[in-house]
Parts: sequence; C-alpha cells; structure tokens
Amino acid sequence: MARPYVIDELISAKAIAARIEELARDIRRDFRDTDKLVVVGLLRGSFVFIADLVRELDMPVEVDFLEASSYGNSTESSREVRILKDLRGEIQGRDVLVVEDIVDTGHTLSHVTKLLNTRAPARLATIALLDKPSRREVDVKADYVGFEIPDEFVVGYGIDFAQRNRNLPFIGAVRFTEDA
Ligand code: 5GP
Ligand code: MG
Ligand code: MG
Repeated sequence: MARPYVIDELISAKAIAARIEELARDIRRDFRDTDKLVVVGLLRGSFVFIADLVRELDMPVEVDFLEASSYGNSTESSREVRILKDLRGEIQGRDVLVVEDIVDTGHTLSHVTKLLNTRAPARLATIALLDKPSRREVDVKADYVGFEIPDEFVVGYGIDFAQRNRNLPFIGAVRFTEDA
C-alpha cells in the first residue's frame, strides 16, 4: 500500500488567481505588438494553469501542447529529456509562450526551449507557475514566474502525485505521515 500522506495548503486558489491576473497583465504589455500569441502548454502538469492564464489574456491566442518526459536519475546533470508529443502547429516566425507548471532542476525547460528555438520562432518566452531555484542543475530561468517555492514536493492545480491530486484547486505540499 502507498505510504500515507496529508497535503498542506501552500498557495490558495485565491492567491493563484490574483497572481495570474498580474502575470497576464505583464504578458499582455510585453506582447502588445503580437497579432496572435502561440501559447504552448507542457503536458500534463500545466493544463489547469494554461486554462486560467489564457482566459486572462485579453488578446488573440492560439493554444498548442507539447509533452516531454525526463528519464534517469534527477540528480545527474546529464538527465535525458524526450518529446512524447510534439506541437501540432508551426512556430516559425511566430511569438511563442511556453507554459510550464514547475521549474525544478531546469532540464525540461532548458531542453524544450532549445528544441523550439531550432524552429526559428520570432520570439520565445517562458512562464512557470512555480519555481524551485534551490533545486537547479541547469542555468535556466523562466521569463515569468508565479511563485518561488522552497524544496517541497507539491501537488494540485494540475500537478500530480502518482496521477492523483491534479484536481485540487490549490497548491499543496505532500507530507508523509506515520502509519501507526
Ligand atoms: P525539471 O526538469 O525542471 O527538473 O522538472 C520539471 C518537472 O518535474 C515539472 O514540470 C514537474 O512535472 C516535475 N516536478 C518538479 N517538482 C515537482 C513537485 O514538487 N511535484 C510534482 N508533482 N512534480 C514536480
Ligand atoms: Mg511539467
Ligand atoms: Mg508529474
């Protein structure tokens, strides 16, 4: 049986919504000359975030998805990132915003931005709802960050623990409890 755990609320649904309004305002300002922004969600963890974010973006957007998976020991800086599902659309000459749930070691975001840059977008920006700077192994930073968090394993708001808890409306930290 799985080890029992509880979830401690770290960021409330209300705080997330307020921060997304601010982030959307910044993005709208920075991309005011863009005809139609291509918003790329990294599956699966960003699906709730991207849904809320695009509804705050008062501008034409196109939504696409990409799924990446990392393999190997996460403590090795040589960790391999594979593309499981690629974009449907072309991004050459387009303004693109990559939406990630969490930047942790940085391998995923670094790999994905390198890959997408080979397709010659006019502009490539990145946004992460959460950032764990203390865990970084690759020198990468999202252009827009929702919240910096400590080194905790978090769930909710799209983010899972063994495919559970994605549907929690808030971000919580997993805390393991004793069996007894
Ligand atoms: P990175 O390549 O930056 O190490 O990994 C980023 C990915 O690892 C995130 O998009 C997320 O899928 C996963 N990840 C990192 N930290 C956490 C966490 O605290 N909880 C969960 N559920 N996934 C995490
Ligand atoms: Mg992710
Ligand atoms: Mg996951």
